[in-house]
Amino acid sequence: MDCLFCKIINKKISSLIVYEDANVLCIIPKDMEVYGHILIIPKKHFNDIFDIQNKDLQNLMTVAKKISISLRKKIGATGINILHASGKDAGQSVQHFHLHLFPRFKDDKVNAWPQLPENSFNKEEIFRKIVFIK
Ligand SMILES: [Zn+2]
Repeated sequence: MDCLFCKIINKKISSLIVYEDANVLCIIPKDMEVYGHILIIPKKHFNDIFDIQNKDLQNLMTVAKKISISLRKKIGATGINILHASGKDAGQSVQHFHLHLFPRFKDDKVNAWPQLPENSFNKEEIFRKIVFIK
């Protein structure tokens, strides 16, 4: 399979591995976008949130917490942003599920929240479409 992250997981492409276990690999990305930026990647190939298995997602989030605690301890992060994109329309660049961890620091000038356009959505209409009835 011609997948960049599968190649990294299979060590066909070298990377800076900061954590690895049976299910998850964590690396410093080629383009570190903020100080201490980490990618958290399942070793099994899943495209996105729509096909990742629950157990694999749980493993990933458990590692995200572990890495967050480590970033606080080792580089003094005072906050964490976890970013994710599923689907090209969401801005997913590598079609292998992954999370971005951004360590945050007081007054670091990073704005990890998107600047969204003004809107006037009908909340009742969207609520009726997505509400879960048990
Ligand atoms: Zn892959």
